[in-house]
Amino acid sequence: MNIELKNCPCCGGKVKIYKSALLFNCEAKVMCPTCRLQTATYKEPIIENAIWFAVNAWNRRVTE
Ligand SMILES: [Zn+2]
Repeated sequence: MNIELKNCPCCGGKVKIYKSALLFNCEAKVMCPTCRLQTATYKEPIIENAIWFAVNAWNRRVTE
């Protein structure tokens, strides 16, 4: 999967994916470590899906 994350619209910094993967309970969100702007936390059975939702939510927010 090719993940492309846009820079933070607030401070222009690089953002990171925060994830935790437990069995059938995977969570992911995107957060800017500098100003703490973040997406919601997405919970999915598969970590790739949770990351996909978080990344898409982040990139949509940046574009708005
Ligand atoms: Zn920021």
